[in-house]
Amino acid sequence: MIDIISIVIIIGACTFVAAPLFKKQEEIAVRGGSIDSRVSELLNQQAMAASTIEDLEFDLQTGKLSQEDYESLVADQQKIQKEADARLKDISGVSSAELVEKLEKEITAEKEKLTSDSTPKCPSCKKEIKAGDRFCSECGAKLE
Ligand SMILES: [Zn+2]
Repeated sequence: MIDIISIVIIIGACTFVAAPLFKKQEEIAVRGGSIDSRVSELLNQQAMAASTIEDLEFDLQTGKLSQEDYESLVADQQKIQKEADARLKDISGVSSAELVEKLEKEITAEKEKLTSDSTPKCPSCKKEIKAGDRFCSECGAKLE
């Protein structure tokens, strides 16, 4: 009996830790137009498995699932996540956690690029300048 309880606690803790990570993957997989479609599919698979596990947990709590069914179904989903992670490693050479980190950095960099490139700025005082100006109207610095 004690063993079953500790297994449930461990599964619960794993899901709890993994859930935010997979939520992020889902978000990135949806947004990532430039990502390899296979990678994006695998990230989606993992995100879906994570949300299925959440559903299973709910079914267990509401008594729709027996403890045994819950554990075997969760194990199936975790297998899907592991397999997807292994395939991700094959394709991209990194684990899904590393990939998510990398993609997040790319998205942040792209966002920064978009906001900073939209208007030309003086390299010296960073004030916005008009395209074609030869000198900054604010500090007088020579512009390229
Ligand atoms: Zn300036």
